Amino acid sequence: MADTETKSETRGRLLDWLRDAHAMEKQAAQMLSTMESRIEHYPDLRRRIAQHMKETETQATRLEDCIKSLGGAPSSVKDATGTIMGMIHTLPNALAGDEVMKGTLAGYTFEHFEIAAYRILIAAATTLGEAAVAETCRKNLREEEEMAQWFSQNIDQLTAHYLEREDKGETAKR
Ligand code: MG
Ligand code: FE
Repeated sequence: MADTETKSETRGRLLDWLRDAHAMEKQAAQMLSTMESRIEHYPDLRRRIAQHMKETETQATRLEDCIKSLGGAPSSVKDATGTIMGMIHTLPNALAGDEVMKGTLAGYTFEHFEIAAYRILIAAATTLGEAAVAETCRKNLREEEEMAQWFSQNIDQLTAHYLEREDKGETAKR
């Protein structure tokens, strides 16, 4: 009896974390969409963000499937809450003179937040014997790692490009 209770409690925890991840992806989609629509002079960044926006929508759907597979109601998915993500989310919206760099900072940070979230989800699902959930979360993790890697490989050039435009008196902020 005690074992059964423990098991259903821990399963509930996994469900909670899947809902948190779903809220995280909804917020990511919003942030990416805002960034994508505002960038004018950084075509490579804009393209990569558009690609990740599509990936993010798929990630949210995958999480909904996981929630349903564990018996959770899809309607119980959380709204975006005032967490660290809320703070990150507001950064690219700020009317900053360097908004493309603020967005890059937020984006690179957000990908690492997502990587941490999926590492925890994969470990939890594996511990609880939910192999299918773990495998689905691994797909999402891979896309976050690729996006983080893209930022890592492009951040130097982006920053230099930003400063160069600013120096020439060209529109640099987006
Ligand atoms: Mg994501
Ligand atoms: Fe992401």
